[in-house]
Amino acid sequence: MQRTLSIIKPDAYGAGRIGAIIALLEKGGLRVRAARTLRLTAEQARAFYAVHSERPFFESLVAFMTSGPVMVTVLEGEDAIQRNRQIMGATDPAKAEEGTIRAQYGTNVQNNAVHGSDATDTALGEIAFFFCESDLV
Ligand code: ADP
Ligand code: MG
Repeated sequence: MQRTLSIIKPDAYGAGRIGAIIALLEKGGLRVRAARTLRLTAEQARAFYAVHSERPFFESLVAFMTSGPVMVTVLEGEDAIQRNRQIMGATDPAKAEEGTIRAQYGTNVQNNAVHGSDATDTALGEIAFFFCESDLV
């Protein structure tokens, strides 16, 4: 069993896609072990995406991620990190495989509906960014 962090981003949250997205994740074999909704501050968004701070899209990404509420969840399952990435689809919704979350609910390479951790070390750090051990059922 492995855990990963998922974020339903402000575009998908605002479009009322929480239920549809969680359904796809559950259908894909992932279980929600913790969840909460919040609106990220700019400081939180900058810290969460610090790895991208030198990229040209960084300030735009921070503005997008703080533009409305998000839902953060801890997903658990076999090979959860890769499994979640597969269910999400490619970063650019135009290149995402049919049936993936981003293909269905993403708008463009920035407004792409969901975040998912990309490796075991980043998953641990990203889960700890939002949750403590007692939050995990
Ligand atoms: P992923 O979310 O698939 O792991 P990255 O880690 O490369 O993708 O990028 C983090 C987030 O930054 C993306 O999900 C997207 O919201 C945004 N982003 C990535 N590339 C671009 C880009 N070229 N232009 C605008 N925003 C981008
Ligand atoms: Mg990434």
